[in-house]
Amino acid sequence: MESMVAMETLVSLCKRRGFIYQSSEIYGGLASAWDYGPMGVELKNRVQNFWWREMTQLHENIVGLDASILMHPRVWEASGHVENFTDPLVDCKKCKQRFRADQIPEQNMETHACPECGGELTDPRQFNLMFKTHLGPVESDASLVYLRPETAQGIYVNFKNVVQTARMRVPFGIAQVGKAFRNEITTKNFIFRTCEFEQMEMQFFIHPSEDGKWFEQWKQERFEFYKKMGIRESRMRFHQHGPGELAHYAKIAFDIEYEFPFGWKELEGIHNRTDYDLRRHMEYSKKDLTYLDDLRDGERYIPYVIETSAGLTRTVLTVLADAYDEEEVEGEKRVVMRLHPDLAPVTVGVFPLVKKDGLAELAQEVVRDLREDFTTFYDQGGAIGRRYRRQDEIGTPFGVTVDYQSKEDRTVTLRYRDSMEQVRVPIAGLHERIRQAIKEYRRVD
Ligand code: ATP
Repeated sequence: MESMVAMETLVSLCKRRGFIYQSSEIYGGLASAWDYGPMGVELKNRVQNFWWREMTQLHENIVGLDASILMHPRVWEASGHVENFTDPLVDCKKCKQRFRADQIPEQNMETHACPECGGELTDPRQFNLMFKTHLGPVESDASLVYLRPETAQGIYVNFKNVVQTARMRVPFGIAQVGKAFRNEITTKNFIFRTCEFEQMEMQFFIHPSEDGKWFEQWKQERFEFYKKMGIRESRMRFHQHGPGELAHYAKIAFDIEYEFPFGWKELEGIHNRTDYDLRRHMEYSKKDLTYLDDLRDGERYIPYVIETSAGLTRTVLTVLADAYDEEEVEGEKRVVMRLHPDLAPVTVGVFPLVKKDGLAELAQEVVRDLREDFTTFYDQGGAIGRRYRRQDEIGTPFGVTVDYQSKEDRTVTLRYRDSMEQVRVPIAGLHERIRQAIKEYRRVD
């Protein structure tokens, strides 16, 4: 079995190469908040686009939405979050640390002993995870609003709008990517669990009699999605929620789990939310959210919802952890991020063999041309081997080197990141070669 990257190795590469920085670092950092640097934002955008394309472009019955983060406070009463979206927390009276009661060893709960300092723990208290703020200049109960803890509710409250204005017929889905906020006790696992994060959610509206069929279909499709993105199948599995784990809205739920360096953890949840949310919004808003199905002899019903809910930032961590590889090449360690070419922050690195004799100018001409179609990075500094290694570390799948022969016959060498194979290609044929290689990409380990 391939070895797994240690978290500190990954965190340090992410910092060093401009993927992810600690938030507010110059002030000592903010716990569990992270900023995406030049490489990180490219990667995150590409993961998002990969999902968006898969969900909307490749499914004729799914449309997109971008709802606001702040919503009417009644939304969260209707959704059950005000009442139920809580974690049981215990405090240590001595060291003042706070823990999730369900995440500390049972023995500590029984003896009321703090897992850090042995001090006395309080009894568990339910703590609501929603961040509160106030709309407008007056801080009163009437101005209370929440930062959304999930993007899904923005979809449910727009269900009728989408049916009426986008002419969607059940079964159909609405996809959305956006920020969500949870005031969680976070652990030390980098961007795995943060208080501010991004979700990629798709709510699929169906006739209640078809929930089993659609649940199974989405479960399989979502697993395939990660394989398509180049994630190793051997590090993925399903986990079914037992009765004690089910969220307040769910009838059945499966997680897709990934084997992170710190163990198997949830990457995405697929939930059968039944008609819970639409029904509750009907009750609380007093608006009719039933659906008139002309394909079922005018039957009127509240659709069931199959939800696929993935973390965008958590997927970025998965992609990074899965891509990391080390190997020995000519007696030296090569670190290579085996990112899918559609996800890599830079697609092509272009290098003049030397700066002089017009090679830099020719290489820049190649860059100008490739830039129209691919994210391209030009690097003329240092030995060519070192320049290749720098690109390997950020996962750049292709390298183009301009040498003396290039000036004579307008050919260059094209280097493949994974195999390190080099082939001579006419400059005029580069676009096509690269496009083809992206299309045919298969993960090699
Ligand atoms: P957990 O049990 O880990 O708290 P959850 O079951 O509450 O997670 P969901 O509400 O199903 O998670 O959220 C759907 C997805 O959103 C998760 O699979 C995960 O990828 C992502 N997610 C949830 N909470 C966070 C967080 N605090 N930070 C980053 N991503 C998150």
